[in-house]
Amino acid sequence: MTERRLEGVGATPTVGVGTARWYRPEDVTTLEEPPDPQTVSATAERERFEAAQNEAAAELEAERERTRERVGDDEAKVFDAHLQFLCDPQIEAGVEEGLGDGLPAPHAVYAAFEGPIVQFEGMDGMMAERADDLRDIRDRLLRLLTDTARSDIGALSDDSVVLAAVLTPSDTAQLDPEAVAGIATITGGRTAHAAIIARSLGIPAVVGIGEDLEAIDDGTEVVVDGEAGVVIADPTASTRTHAENPTQAAVIDEAVTTADGTELEVAANLGTPAEAARAVEQGADGVGLFRSEFLFQDRTAPPDETEQYEAYVSVCETFSTHTAEPRVVVRTLDIGGDKPIEYLELDPETNGFLGVRGIRLSLDEHAEFFETQLRALLQVAATDAGAGLAVMFPLVSTVEELEAAVRTVDSIAEDLDREGLEYAIPELGVMIETPASTYLADAFAERVDFVSIGTNDLTQYIQSAQRDLERMSEYQDPLSPAVLRAIDRTVRAAHEGGAWVGMCGEMAGDPELTELLVGLGIDELSMSAVTIPAVKRTICETDTADAKMLAESVLAVDTLEEVENLL
Ligand code: PEP
Ligand code: MG
Repeated sequence: MTERRLEGVGATPTVGVGTARWYRPEDVTTLEEPPDPQTVSATAERERFEAAQNEAAAELEAERERTRERVGDDEAKVFDAHLQFLCDPQIEAGVEEGLGDGLPAPHAVYAAFEGPIVQFEGMDGMMAERADDLRDIRDRLLRLLTDTARSDIGALSDDSVVLAAVLTPSDTAQLDPEAVAGIATITGGRTAHAAIIARSLGIPAVVGIGEDLEAIDDGTEVVVDGEAGVVIADPTASTRTHAENPTQAAVIDEAVTTADGTELEVAANLGTPAEAARAVEQGADGVGLFRSEFLFQDRTAPPDETEQYEAYVSVCETFSTHTAEPRVVVRTLDIGGDKPIEYLELDPETNGFLGVRGIRLSLDEHAEFFETQLRALLQVAATDAGAGLAVMFPLVSTVEELEAAVRTVDSIAEDLDREGLEYAIPELGVMIETPASTYLADAFAERVDFVSIGTNDLTQYIQSAQRDLERMSEYQDPLSPAVLRAIDRTVRAAHEGGAWVGMCGEMAGDPELTELLVGLGIDELSMSAVTIPAVKRTICETDTADAKMLAESVLAVDTLEEVENLL
């Protein structure tokens, strides 16, 4: 049997070997023709529906608990949203209407969900995710009503590699990281929620492989190489041995310097407080990006001040058992673009990538969220554990926006003072994610303590290539000369203005680019916890003078190909 290699997008940069197990939830939506309405008892069918609804609620509650234990409180909240949809009055009225027309319970359920699903599907990417939720709940009810056996993704035998068309965030959260050797999916992207959960569980994952994945049968031996973004079926003995003995870099607990003594902070990107412990285990010096929007997603209402306070304090506390005054950079709410929040019902037209997203929402439509968040953050900054807290504003593109954000911080401080509450003003910073911000980095640096380069969005905007469009992938390389020149300009300008410079886009976590980033003069690199050991090791082996020479030569060429050749 010859080895077969399938390319996709590496979502968790680790390698796993196991046996392919297709996850194909049974199609429960193909129902038989309904019987003559005269023969159907509406009362009996209503009881059947209510029993299925209760059972579905019990399943969702159990899944919520399991997710809470395995992944964290915030990820578990997706199930609260599903529980609400399950008893949604509009859906219940639709089921009642079907029963009234003499349909059996499964047909009435199918009909009741159809309208809302079609409505959301017709909207576009952001709202279409809501349709996925509704489909998920409908199928759960249909499975229970038709007594269809459940494909239990959480109970796979050890060393399974899960193959699937697509995994939802809830599917992924059910996976047991001890048993699952890897994940490979036909669709999906690196920044999708399911991929982010896989990364936080440390499960090797390759997504977006395409239909070719179908050629791998159940029981085939498979290597999932999330680092190279390939899935290898029927590996040769040498591929297998190589995969089973990955050269994992050893964890370096302390802060590192280059071989010649230049200090560089290596921090973690977090989506939820539950990920903080894993980041500490991997040797993170602190947190360079806490994506606070995850606290707001997959639920029906925003977290209040107390809930946010507890979430931020808990991250600071986890890190302070490891480092004195750890720096924890919390990014204020960054929604819009590809990050929807269901209960806000943002208009996809006006809140798209070039619309009202990031700080723009916080200064305008959702100023109340920004204020609540800042109240929580300023109070955390006054605690012992929170002494190293820093607050960062997303997607800033004008000095006016930055000044308005800083004024809001000051006015929140005045409010807290008036109320007699303890607070402190944390370090403040700005994300560099737009072309405008790279030109204004000097002006920003005069007004805040730090900037952090978000290469995911910066690449999208500099290259004019939407970050979630697979067809644009050749433009989405942060090594493109235009992006590298924008980074170089930013670092120089921010340093001249007296600010330190971090990088928290995916580029920061690639050990093969560490030397270049040292040469470009970045002060802090923030990344998914799994890549911290390798990046720290590379920093220790890097000589700053050599790194600067590499950066200079890379900045002197005009094409991506030449950059790649130099690296
Ligand atoms: C970025 O844009 O590089 C970034 C870190 O922010 P996000 O990926 O959350 O948009
Ligand atoms: Mg961004």
